[in-house]
Amino acid sequence: MQDIANNLAVVRQNIENAILASGRKPGSVKLIAVSKFKPETALMAAISAGQSVFGENRVQEAKAKFADLRLSKSELELHLIGPLQSNKADDAVRLFDVIETLDRLSLAEALAKAIRKTGRMPKLYVEVNIGHEAQKSGVAPEALANFLHEIREKFVLSVTGLMCIPPADDNPARHFEKMKKLADQHKLTHLSMGMSADYEAAIRCGATEVRVGTAIFGERS
Ligand SMILES: *Cc1c(COP(=O)(O)O)cnc(C)c1O
Repeated sequence: MQDIANNLAVVRQNIENAILASGRKPGSVKLIAVSKFKPETALMAAISAGQSVFGENRVQEAKAKFADLRLSKSELELHLIGPLQSNKADDAVRLFDVIETLDRLSLAEALAKAIRKTGRMPKLYVEVNIGHEAQKSGVAPEALANFLHEIREKFVLSVTGLMCIPPADDNPARHFEKMKKLADQHKLTHLSMGMSADYEAAIRCGATEVRVGTAIFGERS
């Protein structure tokens, strides 16, 4: 597990270097450690190395791994970065501090209900299908303005950020640049983009948070 501490140190240094290289403010990018499929021992190693922000793809897995841990570690911040089914909205609202994958009106409705019911109010980001890929979820870039308007009007939800996963087979920078424009256009302050292979490029394009799994925890089996 010494590897995890070392890996974290390397990733943090790379992040700060990319921030400096792009003339941005030191410490202005948040590192989300993506711990999906990784056991609790890996989480503990990361926490011991000072990491407090984690990303998980599935509600059930996150609940199993983090529900108890959260009680003793109040500094933890949990982001949901995988697709969310409407019937898991209550659990998601109870567990996560940020839900990054709001991608349809029916989910906005379920989240609004869950927020009323639980009294908890996670931050919400909209997932954008920035490469218009058929197999990926997310709101099409040209539909974003209308989507944001509708969820404000119909469900009184406020969105504070955007997230994306650019196409795997393409140069990510041009997609990241488009995302930055969308975030600015809609005055959204959080921009979640960049993974192990491209977080430095994402930071150069304006990411405010990067989601890094493999470069911290190693390959997933
Ligand atoms: C798994 C995952 C990541 C982390 O990917 P790595 O390449 O392991 O860094 C980031 N974002 C999302 C949405 C993911 O599903």
